[in-house]
Amino acid sequence: MDFAATKALFHLPEGMIYLDGNSLGPLPKATAARVAKTVTDEWGEMLITGWNKAGWMAQPTALGDRIGRLIGAEAGHVTLGDTLSIKVYQALASAIDLNPDRKVILSDTGNFPSDLYMAAGLVGSLGRGLELRTVAPEDVMASLSKGIAVLMLTQVDYRTGRMHDMAALTKAAHDLGIVTVWDLAHSAGALPVDLAGCNADFAVGCTYKYLNGGPGAPAFIYVAPRHVATTRPALSGWLGHAAPFAFDLDYRAGTGIERMRVGTPPVLQMAALDAAMDIWDSVDMDALRARSIALSEAFIAGVESACPELRLASPRDANMRGSQVSFHHPEGYAIMQALIAAGVIGDFRAPDIMRFGFTPLFIDEGDVGRAVDILAEIMRDRTWDQPQFKQRAAVT
Ligand SMILES: *Cc1c(COP(=O)(O)O)cnc(C)c1O
Repeated sequence: MDFAATKALFHLPEGMIYLDGNSLGPLPKATAARVAKTVTDEWGEMLITGWNKAGWMAQPTALGDRIGRLIGAEAGHVTLGDTLSIKVYQALASAIDLNPDRKVILSDTGNFPSDLYMAAGLVGSLGRGLELRTVAPEDVMASLSKGIAVLMLTQVDYRTGRMHDMAALTKAAHDLGIVTVWDLAHSAGALPVDLAGCNADFAVGCTYKYLNGGPGAPAFIYVAPRHVATTRPALSGWLGHAAPFAFDLDYRAGTGIERMRVGTPPVLQMAALDAAMDIWDSVDMDALRARSIALSEAFIAGVESACPELRLASPRDANMRGSQVSFHHPEGYAIMQALIAAGVIGDFRAPDIMRFGFTPLFIDEGDVGRAVDILAEIMRDRTWDQPQFKQRAAVT
């Protein structure tokens, strides 16, 4: 893999080291023209005929298959649409249906809050006496039991990068009759995932983080082949119907993954994602993983030697981490704002975590070295200790 070549495919602002591709991926250079073409040649010239002529209606599954290659999904079992929170709700509702006699949804306290909020909302709506139970991430395996209906986890922790063993947990869950829902928000495009090999049941994820689909890019959902024909879509919108244009008054689920579609796809966002996937189509995920580990290890070693007051929040063992590295510091917010002002973009997650994403498609050793040097300077000079760096913004 030639990562200098992939770096050249992105627009990276002059003087900026962007270590936040885990939160919002940067702009591929081809995206603006690709979106403009959809706007002018397709929307502008074709108008409503674009749904057929430009393939707009087929985009969610066509793009789904290209994402599917990165996450080890069988062809034809991934579709796109809506936001990740919505896809979590859909996957969880379908998973609960597969275990109607059990009452517990198990998740962990490292999960992203929206996943837990959506689960709590669903539990409330169903009114079947279901319980959402969260345990510490390291206690998940020991908490599996025959009373649990669904195990719902995010594979890679959004704050620390700590990674669950998807294969082992899925197997242990299945041995007890538990259905699994995996959130791949910080996995897809970050490391190799093997959904089919793990025998995963449902998976979801977003495309605006590592996949570089742009702000507001649609989420994806995977349903295992063995479930898809019997999965009941909780969000039974017209585009998940077997024949949307028959306009039947009664809902009949579409064949296969199509039934997980809800409403009109975001055509302009999918044009942007299409341009990003042109880059991903040629990426070898094992090579990407090796490079992500090398960059992360270099950053940890550099920060620990230059900034002893920062404490590693991520697992030290690279095999237990995704593609991000976090450090604790009580003044983490202010330090991160000082870093951003100096052109090194990471982010802050409450209460005290400074988070840095390593995205090998456009970050290289030179970026890592410079980021360490700038951080070391900020710590040495206490540049962060100024009022303007302590003012909290709405988005951290
Ligand atoms: C980023 C992220 C989300 C965000 O959900 P949206 O509906 O796309 O805003 C949800 N869950 C996890 C685990 C995430 O990392």
